[in-house]
Amino acid sequence: MTSHARLRTITDDLHIWSPQPSTGWGMANCGLLSPRRGRTAAWIDSPYDRARALEFLELGRPLLAEGARIDRVIVTHGNGDHLWGAEVVPEAEVIATRETLGHIDHEPDPEQLHALVHGIDPDTVLGWYLRRSFGRFDWSGTEVRRPGTVFTGELELQVGDIPVHLIALPPAHTAGDLLVHLPQQGTVFTGDVVFAHTADQPGDHPVHWAGPLAGVVSACERALATGASTFVPGHGPILDREGVQGHIGYLEYVRERAHRLHTAGVPALEAACRVIAERRHPGMSLPERLVVTIATEYRHLEGGGGLPDMLATVSQVAQVAWELEHPGLPTPRAAEQPSADRP
Ligand SMILES: [Zn+2]
Repeated sequence: MTSHARLRTITDDLHIWSPQPSTGWGMANCGLLSPRRGRTAAWIDSPYDRARALEFLELGRPLLAEGARIDRVIVTHGNGDHLWGAEVVPEAEVIATRETLGHIDHEPDPEQLHALVHGIDPDTVLGWYLRRSFGRFDWSGTEVRRPGTVFTGELELQVGDIPVHLIALPPAHTAGDLLVHLPQQGTVFTGDVVFAHTADQPGDHPVHWAGPLAGVVSACERALATGASTFVPGHGPILDREGVQGHIGYLEYVRERAHRLHTAGVPALEAACRVIAERRHPGMSLPERLVVTIATEYRHLEGGGGLPDMLATVSQVAQVAWELEHPGLPTPRAAEQPSADRP
């Protein structure tokens, strides 16, 4: 079997599944909570497609106590790259915030996304971008497991002998994010309120759909307020407290630039292009995602919340990515067939 990931042990009852490559759309981290006693175990998020989810299941099997199975999946938010793999554990209880239900209904479902990515003309800019970004995934026949247990506020769980503290967040990355705090392990799973990179490990620019960025900063501060020392981001390398502080610095920079450019009357797309051109974070890939994050911030500045038209927004993202990678070339044009294995 092709290996899609690495499994890393944090404590003897907590393991992190990190996809390879570790950057690119949809390459999200997952957790396995495997108590040393009892017949229970839990996932924190699930991989994006069936092949990766089955691989996570197989890699984790030797780490489970005798007779245990994955009977819960805690979902940090409703994006498919954290939820759709739950179909491989159909008996498991899926747990999320109440707002996540609404988010799932807003996103394209797996069949729609599969048909779009694999059916679109790759000689268009959007087709080039979607194939390159999502062509590695196979969602044919995927059924979305809708969360059967939802909550608001906070929820205390026990997975065997492991206490699990779930904290629902105000709108940040999506309208339904949560933090998973594991006090015994000194660890927080942040979901996509953190997209991490470090000096020696690459990462992606965040993409925030709900916002505002002040909400994302508050979510990071809430994660730090647990007192934990280890932070598993939705994407990218595991961070310490200083790493989360550094990420807050990134978010504050983007927020400050967006506000200044908005005040100056610069349209959102042009503002994103200017911030990208500043290249303040050259170690982070997918700079074109600033188009989404800055458009989100502008919506809030203009008094509107809600979610964007995803296809229209991703079309703009694709256009900016094309221009960054093919400076001076006209668009649309026949793009070379991209490799699905590229990040
Ligand atoms: Zn994600």
